[in-house]
Order: sequence, then C-alpha cells, then structure tokens
Amino acid sequence: MKARFIVSSESPLNIRVSRSTASFETFRYIPGTTLLGAFASGHRKTCNNETEFTRFFLSGEVSFSNLYPANFQANEFSNTDLRDDEQPIKPIPNTARSCKRFSGFRFKADTGKRERHGVMDSLMYWGLFAVSGQTQVEVLNAHTKCIYPVKQDECCELLDTFSGFYRRGESIIEIGKSEAKTRLLIRTGISRETGAVQEGILYNREVLNEGQQFWGVMSFADEQLYDKFYDFAEDIGSKGLLRIGNNLTRGLGKMSVPEFQEFEVDDLVSFKQRVSAFNEKFHAEAQAHCVDLQHQFYFPITLQSDAIISDPQFRCQTALSGEYLYQVLNLGDVTLIYQNASTRRVFGWNALFGLPKAAVCAISMGSVFLFGYNGITDDAFYQTLYNIEQTGIGKRKLEGFGQVTVADAFHSEVNEYESGHENH
Ligand SMILES: [Zn+2]
Repeated sequence: MKARFIVSSESPLNIRVSRSTASFETFRYIPGTTLLGAFASGHRKTCNNETEFTRFFLSGEVSFSNLYPANFQANEFSNTDLRDDEQPIKPIPNTARSCKRFSGFRFKADTGKRERHGVMDSLMYWGLFAVSGQTQVEVLNAHTKCIYPVKQDECCELLDTFSGFYRRGESIIEIGKSEAKTRLLIRTGISRETGAVQEGILYNREVLNEGQQFWGVMSFADEQLYDKFYDFAEDIGSKGLLRIGNNLTRGLGKMSVPEFQEFEVDDLVSFKQRVSAFNEKFHAEAQAHCVDLQHQFYFPITLQSDAIISDPQFRCQTALSGEYLYQVLNLGDVTLIYQNASTRRVFGWNALFGLPKAAVCAISMGSVFLFGYNGITDDAFYQTLYNIEQTGIGKRKLEGFGQVTVADAFHSEVNEYESGHENH
C-alpha cells in the first residue's frame, strides 16, 4: 500500500548538494535518502528494537520517497485544488516551455502579483520532429513564440525551458508551480578553545526556510507495517527528534510531526485510458503536421525522481533505451524515438556508519523518453507498463530513486497557449 506523507519545516533546512566544503547550496526538496537517514537516526535514538529497525530500513518492505515543496499559500490559490494535499507534487518535465519574460502557469495569473503568460509541453512536437528524421522543422517552428495576447498583438517573446515542481488539480485547468523558499544564513565559527567567535571564520549556508510543507508518497509491504511505522513516525515527530539534513547541531533541520494519509494510485483501467489518450493525441498531431509515423503506438516515460540505471557490466546509463526496457523491464519491440534527459552525480552520506557513500551518476528527475512500439497492445502490454509505473526502475528504489510515470498527462494536456484557452 502507498501513503501520502506531509511534513513541515520548523527550523531552516540545509541539505547539501555536494560534499565539497566550498559548496553552500541546498537541495530544493528533501531527497528520499535524507528522509530515510533521518528516520533511521530517530529510530536509533528512541527504540531498541533491531527487528523493527531491519523491517523499516533494510528489508525493502518500506520505500521512502523524495519530498517535494508544496507551497501554495499565496491568496490567489485559496479555494483551488492546489491547496489540496491529495494531489501529488511532481517535477516539471524537461519538455515544458514557457514565455522567457513572463514565465509561469496562467492559472490564477490575473489575481497574482506577477504576470504569467502560460506553459506548454513540447514533447509531441519534438517527438514528431524526431520521427520525421529531423526534417520537418516547421513542427517546431510553429511553437517557439509566446502568443499571449497583449494590446491587440501577441507577446512574441521566445519560449524557454521551465523547471521546478508543480501540482495539478482534478482538472488540468488548475495547475500551478510550487517553489521552495530559500535564504542565505551567515554564521560565525566558534573557537573550540575559547568558546567565543573564531577570528577569520565566517561561512554561508543556503537554507530552505522554516514553515514550508513537503509532500511525498511512501510504500509499505502491508497495512500492519504501515500502522507500526505511523506510530513510530508520530512518536519521534512529537518528541522533536525528526531532524533532517546538515548542521543539525546548529539548530537546523527540525521537522513537524509528519502526517500520513492513504494514497489511492490509478487503477489499470484509468491507467490504460491515460496511455491511450497520449497515443491518440500523438497520432492526431502527426496527421495535423503531415508526419508519417513508423510505429503503431507511442508512449513516453517521465522521471518523477532521479533514476540510477546500470547495464549488465554495472556501468551507469545516462538514458533509457529500448534494450533496457526489453532486458530489464520485459517489454519488447520498443524503440527510443526521442529523449530530453539530463544527469547528475549523486553523493550521499551514510548517517548510520558516519561514512560517505560512493558517488554514482543518475538520470535526473524531469527527464523524458519517448518510445515507439510495434507489438500487440493487449492486456499484457498495458500490465507491463503499469507495473513499470507502480514499482519504478533502476537501483535504490527504497530511497525514492527511479519513480516514473508512463504517458504523464502533462504531455498530452498542458498547453495554455492553445487557441481558446481562457485566462483563469
Ligand atoms: Zn509572453
């Protein structure tokens, strides 16, 4: 079973992006690895129960996840689904585009403080351009400028990449960007000898501000284990022992009592509808742009968290491939058509042993891979895709790596530049 997990920061958080001492930057979200480490350390401090520790943190029966910022406190979002914690927070896919000058979702922009001209997803156009053997440039050219209406004309600024996190409501009309609020803390070093300020030691730490909510989904092998974990989480939360990130001895990283709620995942029927809807739209766009398709069925895989993928020789992969889908995920007849992927080095600290983890290369969240399929689209095909989405891909899934969506509705539905779209 899966459960939504919501927690707020009660003091500033610093989760260092790199191990370098010169680095002061913090992650803009709470990585699953950090969350697991925080709970494991809380367990060590409060419970003397090896069996339970093993079940929670080592057995694979509990999977942690990244927690993404859920900041929709602005007045413009009152009475909208964006304040509703039932809806997930996801990374904005790499294929999203927005006005270079006035970027942002158009939803409630009229009541907000800043002008926002809208967001669209470019995956279908890039996919068609790739299918055409990179010859039909017009497909891309038709979607490069902002067509937001300004004084009897259009804005005409270029569309640029657009990143961060978003939440959408029940309806695609309600969609907004969530940004973690950060600031820079400047601190002086304390001399170990005198207990006073150490001369020449002044350092910066970027922190995630206190008073922010973070959202994620954890998985549990069964309900009984969920109940046990729930009680434990509430216990360490109420004792103020859920501490996350770096500089804990300096008062950073204090979290509220976590809240859990059961999380309903899409069933196979609605999953099938979503995947088919993408394929149908892709075919319709191909027809509209006169592009001949070579596959019967198209579906994208979008990374909701970083994924650590390696080949049989244990070499890290920087992209998903048809071969990987066949060999590891058991889905044949699949060809990679287009990708918009990035990578990052994953560093880690094993809080239990006080040792650094080996750095590995991961494919970054938000990366998108479009596949073409020429086999039969029977129940077994949909079931395999469904299993991929439910269980994730690659290594370290217990820490929240490798979460994916197949045919995320973002790619077929987000186009606030489409004619007829009203300014809500
Ligand atoms: Zn614009």
